[in-house]
Amino acid sequence: MTNKLKYFIGNWKMFGDNSSLKVIKQIYKFRTDFKTGKNKIVICVPNTLISFFEKKIKSKFFYIGAQNCHQNPGYGAFTGSVSASMLKKVGAKYVILGHSENRKSGDTNKIIQEKIKSALDAKINVIFCFGETLNEKRSKKTFSVIRNQILGSVKKNYTIKNIFFAYEPVWSIGTGKTPNVDELKKTFNYIKNEIKKNFKTRSLPIVLYGGSVNHNNISMFSSISEIDGFLIGGASQSAKKFIDIIKNYYK
Ligand code: PEP
Repeated sequence: MTNKLKYFIGNWKMFGDNSSLKVIKQIYKFRTDFKTGKNKIVICVPNTLISFFEKKIKSKFFYIGAQNCHQNPGYGAFTGSVSASMLKKVGAKYVILGHSENRKSGDTNKIIQEKIKSALDAKINVIFCFGETLNEKRSKKTFSVIRNQILGSVKKNYTIKNIFFAYEPVWSIGTGKTPNVDELKKTFNYIKNEIKKNFKTRSLPIVLYGGSVNHNNISMFSSISEIDGFLIGGASQSAKKFIDIIKNYYK
């Protein structure tokens, strides 16, 4: 179960301002000139930058995304929040949902389920994050945690082809630690089989890996054909680091 098209998705978190357009431009230029491999790039930026960046980029292989949304569709009395349809209006084509940093501040499976629905209804592709903590890994609960998070947030009637499943072990995010090849192969096969078993989908599911991906360890990940792409946090804020990850993936 392998997709030929690979995705390199950046999560800038709470970083960036108007001057960061140069980072977007450098990555965009690199991708325009890059002829090796079939891939798409999505950079998920703070909401303050979506419209500004999106207007500068018109491409079938480079998109601007958001990092979260409120579960309520449309408008509402939710101070400080932004809905998926508002993100869509300013040009976001993707939104990250279920990130462990947002789970930590209160996002439950049920809330994430509602957020996914509002994003799909607004015609935004969803990058749905899930993954186990270190304690859960140590007590051999990785598969049951993954299953619970996927089935708790993705309903059978959701359009699976618009959902990118991002496996992000919490213990790997920002730590420099990653699962090994054997663990990754087993986990990706488990995730893909669960998706096939539980959801009706004609297309192959897209399953990404996220957690401490960098230009050095990307060659280890590139040997695992089950991985359809990457969600890259820290390293995506630098054009050079992000570009080097893509270059080294195809080496
Ligand atoms: C993330 O926050 O989604 C992430 C993968 O971060 P990092 O690459 O910095 O571990």
